[in-house]
Amino acid sequence: MQLAKRLDSISEPQTIKMAKLSRELKAKGVNVIDLSLGEPDFRTPEYICNAAVKAINDGFTKYPPVAGIPDLLEAISLKLKRDNNLDYAANEIIVSTGAKQSLANAVLCIVDPGDEVIIPTPYWVTYSSLVLLAGGVPKYVECTIADDFKLTPEKLEGAISAKTKLFMFSSPCNPTGSVYSKAELEGLANVFKRYPQVAIISDEIYEYINYTGRHESIAQFTELRDRVIIVNGMSKGFAMTGWRLGYMAGPRNIVQACDKLQAQFTSGANSITQKASVTALLGDLTETNKMANAFKERRDYIIGALKKMPGVLVNQPEGAFYAFPDISSFFGKTDGETTISNDEDFSMYLLNKAHVATVWGAAFGCGNCIRISFAASMTSLMDAMGRMAIALQELH
Ligand code: PLP
Repeated sequence: MQLAKRLDSISEPQTIKMAKLSRELKAKGVNVIDLSLGEPDFRTPEYICNAAVKAINDGFTKYPPVAGIPDLLEAISLKLKRDNNLDYAANEIIVSTGAKQSLANAVLCIVDPGDEVIIPTPYWVTYSSLVLLAGGVPKYVECTIADDFKLTPEKLEGAISAKTKLFMFSSPCNPTGSVYSKAELEGLANVFKRYPQVAIISDEIYEYINYTGRHESIAQFTELRDRVIIVNGMSKGFAMTGWRLGYMAGPRNIVQACDKLQAQFTSGANSITQKASVTALLGDLTETNKMANAFKERRDYIIGALKKMPGVLVNQPEGAFYAFPDISSFFGKTDGETTISNDEDFSMYLLNKAHVATVWGAAFGCGNCIRISFAASMTSLMDAMGRMAIALQELH
């Protein structure tokens, strides 16, 4: 079978590759601690599950409208006002089968072949693949640990060219946990004001897992209102990864374009999930905040443990559930059997020697680091950090 060339530009996400390797080792009876996945380890809160059961029992099982059921669009509109003080009418919102689909819709509706898309590194793996699938040209802007992996206005301005069509980023960020403050976003917004041809995708899927106590959206700068697209979803904040519900809020023309595209791809998102999401979004966030507090405790533990390991340099993640330590000081070192030449070697060494699964940083556009998810129990994290410390002591 001859496959389409468009597939040549993308590869399997390394996050998935690592999860597979770790599953294979587990199948051989090895006690692997898998910290490679970006998935809350909590169950979906009961009140949300009950709403889904009710939807099934009520027979709410038919094709929903492509953009989403009216009560969910209304709930998202209310949520954006309640949590973000943003005004989006129901017809400026569209619901999809996960934030990933919302991102794909938006990129495919904005990017033409040859268009440049600015992506600050480190970035979430899918961004570059979506741009490449659309025929666009990712323009990576390196952000370093010295800047808490955040983009500065100067770097942003330096990357914009006449071909720049789109900018995409996440805050809180996967993989670095960096969270942009209002002042930092304002700095970027002031640059964007000078380049009206650049659209902005603001991926806010980790909004509720924020340890600063405050989430800021670049959509609050009203001059950018006609070109900011907010992407969010239920997966992370409500532990609903398997339910597949994401949404986008933005200018009417992009929402209409995504509706047109999605109508041909997948139609409306799962009707039962949509009903459950109404309950989740209109609820009081007690369960969400409990999960976020547990992640914070784990963040404090894991960052403390990593800081005690000689040669490991780490920033303080202020959101999401990942540590992204710089491990480049181990390049060139060996335990006598394995020599660590790069981030992938380091991650494989941890898997094979310590039986701890992580993801190498090159997957996120940063080859000096690895990503460690702390969406795992405290016991697993303590065990993993103990094993990692021992494995690193053997590298000389
Ligand atoms: N955006 C970021 C930054 C993510 O980390 C993820 C999931 O890992 C997504 C989007 C996709 O979320 P969803 O499960 O809603 O497709």
